[in-house]
Amino acid sequence: MAFSQETKDKAYIRAGGKCECTRKVCSHHTGRCNARLANDWHAHHITAVASDGPDSLSNCEALCIKCHKNTQSYGR
Ligand SMILES: [Zn+2]
Ligand SMILES: [Zn+2]
Repeated sequence: MAFSQETKDKAYIRAGGKCECTRKVCSHHTGRCNARLANDWHAHHITAVASDGPDSLSNCEALCIKCHKNTQSYGR
């Protein structure tokens, strides 16, 4: 499953167009990342689809490319 365009648009607006990541495993930011989200940002499932995470806005996190890579390396 994937987020609908509408959900992604809402996530982007909620995020203020900036990365919402607050992971400590990211070495390029402390606190919230706030990197500007360009066209290639990722709508990340907070609870993985494999773990029955829904495609809802509350389960959607707007992440920059760097942070999204970290979620793939370390999980959450
Ligand atoms: Zn980020
Ligand atoms: Zn991050």
